[in-house]
Amino acid sequence: DDGPPLVVISNRMPDAAPSGDARTRNVGGLVAALEPALAARGGLWLGWSGRARAGQHRDLAIDRSVVPARASFDFEPRWHELYYNGFANRSLWPLFHSLPERARYADDEWAAYVEVNEVFAEAASRVTSRNGTIWAHDYHLLLVGAALRRRGFTGRLGHFLHIPFPPLDLLETMPWAPEIVSALLAFDLLGFHTRRFAANFLACARELAGAERIAEDALRVQGRVVRARAFPLGIDPAPFESPEDDEGVDEELAQLRTAMGDRQLVLGVDRLDYTKGIPQRLEAFARMLELHPALRGQVSMIQVAVPSRSDVPEYAAQRAAIEALVGHINGTLGEAHWVPVRYVYRSYGRTHLARLYREADVALVTPLRDGMNLVAKEFVAAQDANDPGVLLLSHFAGAAEEMRAAALCTNPYHRDGMANDLARALAMSLEERRARHAELLAMVHRTTSASWADAFLSALEG
Ligand code: UDP
Repeated sequence: DDGPPLVVISNRMPDAAPSGDARTRNVGGLVAALEPALAARGGLWLGWSGRARAGQHRDLAIDRSVVPARASFDFEPRWHELYYNGFANRSLWPLFHSLPERARYADDEWAAYVEVNEVFAEAASRVTSRNGTIWAHDYHLLLVGAALRRRGFTGRLGHFLHIPFPPLDLLETMPWAPEIVSALLAFDLLGFHTRRFAANFLACARELAGAERIAEDALRVQGRVVRARAFPLGIDPAPFESPEDDEGVDEELAQLRTAMGDRQLVLGVDRLDYTKGIPQRLEAFARMLELHPALRGQVSMIQVAVPSRSDVPEYAAQRAAIEALVGHINGTLGEAHWVPVRYVYRSYGRTHLARLYREADVALVTPLRDGMNLVAKEFVAAQDANDPGVLLLSHFAGAAEEMRAAALCTNPYHRDGMANDLARALAMSLEERRARHAELLAMVHRTTSASWADAFLSALEG
């Protein structure tokens, strides 16, 4: 019984081979937050290697020569379609983002999900002691706590969900909702981005698993206490506040400035995902140009759409819809000398992104639903405090729970409303922009990625 004191489990290892899924990169901030915490505790990170090879999943590769130590294993080839693209990304992802009509439920995909969670639990029990501490991450691993308890694990078990947790009425459309909620109750501490998501979980646990609410953030179930709380994830603001020097980026930004002239710049930066509300945002931008014709030729929008899950049909369809809409808007509203929407289907490095954020007059962060949305926080960190841009933020981003008061909030389901909110953002006085930005920046400094990891771990270990 001499395993490491802390094991972090995530679906994918931080340095796993790329799989064409842009979400890997997002692990960036998370890794930066977790690695110091793990290193300080002599901990180990367990996850999928990023490779698929038949019959090899029991072959755990452990590397203790790096800090933190790493353990990884290969997936069975069929898991990619059934567990990953299937149950994780076509059942849990849409439902947990409150888009049940996009979710579909297939028995073989659920079976693969159960199987993979068992495999993760088996691997975790091989690299930790029975009374160690395990912190599991995200919607891929909802069942791993229960699978560990069945293997006799008696230590502390924590889980953080990086996406929303839906309200009971929606969760109930999932055939295995009771199993999932009961399995989550095997953890000692459940972390969510917002109080709303934590409250949704607490209500579901009472209704679907008979847990008894014993405090604001705690349940009793079969004699054990389970806590569910909000731990809002932040960013490390430093690389956005003072991005590194980069000549290539300098040159590109200079070209952008020349192309923009005196026009105002509206910026959207998202993974190409239907939860991000990109079509609704484009429609609102076009509607603004109809409602406020004086703005025509005076403002351009850049939408960066980062390739994501392109082998899932819903994502390919979303891409086609966005590209058709951009063409339609530019064709009907544009002029030979003015392109209303510049659309780029690619990803940028952090330095480039930081500079692009700073160039923007308004950031349109308008998801239909989002666990947190770190772009909102990165945009704030990247602004020039003397002449800051405006954050136009969806009510339905997790970030709105912390940023609501100082950001300009908008409803992405209301096209005319969003169009007018955008016009208001473009016209906001310097004084109001500075006041809002100062408040947002203070918040971005208060809850960072590092303080998030510390808060969760002290609650788990305390
Ligand atoms: N990002 C990036 N390059 C890009 C666009 C985005 O590295 O071209 C990063 C961005 O800095 C942010 C992350 O992708 O850290 C997106 O995180 P967010 O929470 O906003 O959304 P998610 O993609 O996790 O749903």
